[in-house]
Amino acid sequence: MSTQHDDTPQHFDTLAIHAGQEFDPTTGAIIPPIYQTSTFVQDGIGGFRGGYEYNRSGNPTRTSLETQLAALEGGAHARSFSSGLAAEDALLRAALKPGDHIVIGNDVYGGTYRLLTRIFGPWGIETTTAELGDLDAVRAAMRPSTRIVWVETPSNPLLKITDVAALAELAHGAGATLVVDNTFATPALQRPFELGADVVVHSTTKYLGGHSDVLGGAVVLRDDALLEAVGFQQFAVGAVSAPLDAWLTTRGIKTLGVRMQRHSENAQAVAEWAAGRAEFEAVYYPGLSSHPGHDLAARQMTGFGGMVSVGLAAGPAAARAYAESTRVFQLAESLGGVESLIGYPPDMTHASVRGTALAVPENVVRLSVGIEDAGDLVADLEAALGRIAR
Ligand code: PLP
Repeated sequence: MSTQHDDTPQHFDTLAIHAGQEFDPTTGAIIPPIYQTSTFVQDGIGGFRGGYEYNRSGNPTRTSLETQLAALEGGAHARSFSSGLAAEDALLRAALKPGDHIVIGNDVYGGTYRLLTRIFGPWGIETTTAELGDLDAVRAAMRPSTRIVWVETPSNPLLKITDVAALAELAHGAGATLVVDNTFATPALQRPFELGADVVVHSTTKYLGGHSDVLGGAVVLRDDALLEAVGFQQFAVGAVSAPLDAWLTTRGIKTLGVRMQRHSENAQAVAEWAAGRAEFEAVYYPGLSSHPGHDLAARQMTGFGGMVSVGLAAGPAAARAYAESTRVFQLAESLGGVESLIGYPPDMTHASVRGTALAVPENVVRLSVGIEDAGDLVADLEAALGRIAR
């Protein structure tokens, strides 16, 4: 079956497996080969076979991933990069010029804020953080020079939910572009373009790759001028996905739908268990009806995702000890793999935002709930509570 020769609209799980994944016409290999090559032989000067010239400007394995990503997000185009931050960097350089301003949520991945303030700040880009759930606060943060409003929903690590459609309307009214970091939800659970977003970014390192074995990022977009500018960054700077990395990401994406369903089920079980434990003074998970963004998440997403954060009632020392006391949940940076991970954001993923408006409460532990047996995961978290109580 080829998705390219059939006009019938296809559904997410079908596209995830087939978009951009045509079999190899020379051998019939069902899996397209990994084009592990730096350059492409020309039939005379400028005679490119299939349009490929040099690996920085393009590679068929990368094209295959980009086609798959664009199909899943419902964007017209995608460009893939060597990391999520490389993708963000390319987008920001393509979309902004010195003197421009960006409004970003007050709970985002620490590295995104570090990129904006420490790389783009000295380049002349000003960043204001805002509570994006409060549209008056967003309006107050905006300036005539605001070019981008940037949202993570659910956010990292406090799982805040933002109304993408309302934010898109506000941003567009002010002539700004709405960028959604869809890393936590993935297109399996949330489709930002259908809610009015202009650009979607991903750390494909996380759920899209899904197996903790590859670093990558993507920009998905619908605007041709911005596509050209992002593509030029890819070509002129070269932070592109390597062929093997692109291939691994493509393979991971094929199972995204079933993985996200299981991640969501397991995270719901973990969150419900945690909500009943006095050791946690807060459980951050949009699937709990007590979460302030629950109703919005239920409307805007088709599942609540695999990330859960908890606040330890006994404070920061207990939180640190807890993060070091599980056995199935491994203490590590990152998220979104099939295996469960535990992290202490204030000293790990969000160490760079300590002392800023994005500082994470010091008693918070973040769980990336994997797709192992849910009972084993809850038992592990419960045993760890016993270990720190001793
Ligand atoms: N966006 C989010 C929400 C993230 O969690 C991360 C990394 O943790 C990134 C972007 C950056 O991605 P990468 O680590 O692939 O550069």
